[in-house]
Amino acid sequence: MSSNTVRFDPARAALLVVDVQPDFMEGGALAAQEGSAVVEPIRRFMEAGHFGLYVATQDWHPAGHISFASEHAGREPFEVIDLYGHDQVLWPDHCVQGSDNAALHTGLPLKLFSAIIRKGEDPKVDSYSGFKNNWNAEGERPPTGLAGYLRERGITDVFTCGLARDFCVKWTAEDAADEGFRTWYLWDLTRPVDENADDDVRKALTDKGVSIIDSTDVEAAPAARSAG
Ligand SMILES: [Zn+2]
Repeated sequence: MSSNTVRFDPARAALLVVDVQPDFMEGGALAAQEGSAVVEPIRRFMEAGHFGLYVATQDWHPAGHISFASEHAGREPFEVIDLYGHDQVLWPDHCVQGSDNAALHTGLPLKLFSAIIRKGEDPKVDSYSGFKNNWNAEGERPPTGLAGYLRERGITDVFTCGLARDFCVKWTAEDAADEGFRTWYLWDLTRPVDENADDDVRKALTDKGVSIIDSTDVEAAPAARSAG
């Protein structure tokens, strides 16, 4: 039996599936390492019915978005610049609104999503987290409305998975914890842009109070759930 047995009320738990879009997979503009490997396990995990609510996030940039290296003369993708006083990684053009590779991956059971939160729509601000944009020129991180949506639906526990491990899933989980949700990070259902960042990602999440688990810890837990 796993040492990570997970106890939660399914009716008060939401699964957030972050940015499972072809541009973050092999052959896409901004591929995570083996990004496509999460699709089938997330499909099975969703169809297992552990949660009361399923929400997807979708990176959704206008053409010419400020996070694109192509908008910054003399810069290359993956360089880091200062933007409004914070580090900004410059990315290849990706997840442009309406493009095929910006769609949610059709290998997911899309009908199970009660809501899809699009993010990164402000041309001048990036957005890694499903909860809030990155910092804008005023030093604020405007919310997407996701926290309020989850609270109105009675959600207390948030489980996160998707792409990429070291950026959008990490930031989403950190913000979920900051918003007061009990937050779980499904490590095996993520893949990184930079696999060398794994140790730093684990430490940052743990420091925020996020519980790092594997999907099997949830699958192994129905008896514990009903007893809790
Ligand atoms: Zn993006």
